[in-house]
Amino acid sequence: MRTCVGCRKRAPAAELIRFVAAGSGVDLRLQPDPGRRLPGRGAHLHPDPACFALAERRRAFGRALRLTGVADTGLLAEHIREVLPHGTTDDVAMVAPSRPSKVGRPR
Ligand SMILES: [Zn+2]
Repeated sequence: MRTCVGCRKRAPAAELIRFVAAGSGVDLRLQPDPGRRLPGRGAHLHPDPACFALAERRRAFGRALRLTGVADTGLLAEHIREVLPHGTTDDVAMVAPSRPSKVGRPR
């Protein structure tokens, strides 16, 4: 079991994304580690934008990874978007706009 740094709930490691800090100094970034092979101190997060936002707001990334600087979260955010199941409400709204029915349209 691992703890999500966003919502702080415990979940099996397989349900969470592992990520580590890569780089150093001003070029510090959060590196998703789907293969769970990267060395170094890792932390875990649900593949959920809500958990990501929570962790960012609480500055939980830096705390979990013991970072002294501010890390770029772009890679991790992108990874979460990629692994999200398709058909979230936003996607549905975009691909399925309400359109008028052709049935019964007068000629
Ligand atoms: Zn979570």
